[in-house]
Amino acid sequence: MMRRALLALLLLLLLLAGLLTAWLHWPRSGPDPSDLAESSEGAVTLQWLGVSAALLRAGDSAVMIDPFFTRRPGKLGLLTNRPTAPDAERIRAWLQRLGIERLDAVAVSHAHYDHALDAGVVARLTGATLLGSEGVANIGRGAGLPEAQLRTVTDGEEITAGEFRLRFIASRHAGATGGRPRGLIEAPLEPPEPPLAYRQQHTWSILVTHPQARLLHHGSAGFTPGALADVQADAVMLGVALIDDLPRYLDEVVGATGAGRVFAVHWDDFTRPLSEPLRPLPLGVNLPTFFAGARDQLPAVDFRTLPLAEPVALAPE
Ligand SMILES: [Zn+2]
Repeated sequence: MMRRALLALLLLLLLLAGLLTAWLHWPRSGPDPSDLAESSEGAVTLQWLGVSAALLRAGDSAVMIDPFFTRRPGKLGLLTNRPTAPDAERIRAWLQRLGIERLDAVAVSHAHYDHALDAGVVARLTGATLLGSEGVANIGRGAGLPEAQLRTVTDGEEITAGEFRLRFIASRHAGATGGRPRGLIEAPLEPPEPPLAYRQQHTWSILVTHPQARLLHHGSAGFTPGALADVQADAVMLGVALIDDLPRYLDEVVGATGAGRVFAVHWDDFTRPLSEPLRPLPLGVNLPTFFAGARDQLPAVDFRTLPLAEPVALAPE
């Protein structure tokens, strides 16, 4: 009798040890889902999702800008312009991890591959309205979005999405070439398509306002002089790839808006999946130079990068 009880206890201990080992060694790619899905009632939160992708939440409202989860690994595919399709499974997994079932809007700053590839699929899976240029609408059509979920924006236009308002302000793409490939995506873009099929057309700076917070999403490091002169923002998501003239860029985008916080974005190498540690792009980005120059020019502003997918409060409860 005694031996049987001891055996049962031993088996129970072994089972517990096994469960503990499994729990400790369970593969955890990326942050803990329970943290990511958390949204404090009443607060406005921002989650950065690599490149210039952002999730904004307030109460029951949620919008995404430039969602890009696919991030096909390897540089060769990009260099050889190999046709690529959005990875619907990976997109679903990320939406689930973030606790997102529906979005009020998916907004796209410009139709390049690294900003727009997944936008149509994310809008389809979440019932969101897809906001952007005509080319972005054609990405949506290619992803099977109905016309009722497509909206083409114009300069200065403000669109309501739940508790948020999104204002599209014409900007300029970074880089000496003004952001190739340029032009219009003229017909529904049905993936797989080569990365160079994602043509820029327009680049927008997007002001997201909520009664408690104002965030300027500035996904590409170009600017139109004076375009943000009448814009006020508390924080800026600032693209830092291919900065040409840092002092003027900071003046035009950060100084002009009076923002107190700047989150550097578009610095990570998007030929690596989000499940691996992020690394800076091998070309076109120099974070130490950016931060040194920025802090020197605007010492009162808090410049930083954001940890992947961790909620940052833009406004308290
Ligand atoms: Zn671009």
